[in-house]
Amino acid sequence: MSKFIQNKNLLVLKNISHIYNQDTQKIKVLNNINIRVLKGEMISLIGPSGTGKSTLLNIAGLLESPTFGSVNLCGQDCTKLSEENKTILRGSKIGFIFQSHRLFKEFSAFENVMLPQLIMGKSKIDAEKKSKDLLSVLGLKNRLEFRPAKLSGGEAQRVAIARALANSPSLILADEPTGNLDAISANNVFDILYKLVKSLDISCIFATHNNELAKLMDRKLLLKNGSIDDE
Ligand code: ADP
Ligand code: MG
Repeated sequence: MSKFIQNKNLLVLKNISHIYNQDTQKIKVLNNINIRVLKGEMISLIGPSGTGKSTLLNIAGLLESPTFGSVNLCGQDCTKLSEENKTILRGSKIGFIFQSHRLFKEFSAFENVMLPQLIMGKSKIDAEKKSKDLLSVLGLKNRLEFRPAKLSGGEAQRVAIARALANSPSLILADEPTGNLDAISANNVFDILYKLVKSLDISCIFATHNNELAKLMDRKLLLKNGSIDDE
C-alpha cells in the first residue's frame, strides 16, 4: 500500500525555506513549506502579491534552488542534480505558463510550439504532428501561421498552453496565467487547461488571485506569511 501511495507522488516539496539576499537585507520568503502533488491533480496556489507564489513555482520548476529543503520530481531527488541534469529534467517533465504569454513575437503560433520540441531533439516530422494536434485541440487550427501580435489574449495563452504541453510534461506550473485576461477568456483558458490536465492524467499547480477558479480545482494551497495552509 505504501509503495502504491509513493508512486502517485508526482512532486514532493519537503521543508522548503527560501531567503533572498538583497544587498545587505535578507528577505525570508518561504518558511518550511511541505507540499505533495499527486499525479492527475490540479491545485490552486493563492495568496496576496509578494507572498512568494512565483518563488515557490520557480523552486518546484527547478529554476531556482531553495535555501533549505528538497524537491523530488517524478521520484527523483533534484537537490543535488547538476544544472545540466536539472535542465534536461525540466525540459522533459515540466511545462511553464506565465501571466504574459511570453511567445516569441517573430515566430508563428505553430513555430512557437515547434521550438521546445526541436530543442529537446525531437524529429521535425514528429514535432510538426504534435504541434498541429495540440493547436487543433486548443481550437487554434485556423491560427497556425499567426504571429502573437495577431492573436487575442486568450488565443495567445492557448498557444502558450500548447507550448507547455509540447514535450508531454508530467507537471504544468502556471503562474497567474489568466491574470491578464477578461473574465470570459480567463474561464475559457482555465476550462481548456483543466480538461487537458485531467484527460492527460498530468498534474498542475495554478497560481491565481481568482477565487472562483480556485474553487473549481481539486485542492487549494493558501500561501500566507511564508507558510502554506493546505486545504
Ligand atoms: P508573488 O509571486 O506571490 O507575488 P514573489 O515570489 O514574486 O511573490 O516574491 C516574493 C517576495 O520575494 C517579494 O517580497 C519579492 O520582492 C521578493 N523577491 C522575489 N524575487 C526576488 C529576487 N530575485 N531577489 C530579491 N527579492 C526577491
Ligand atoms: Mg508572482
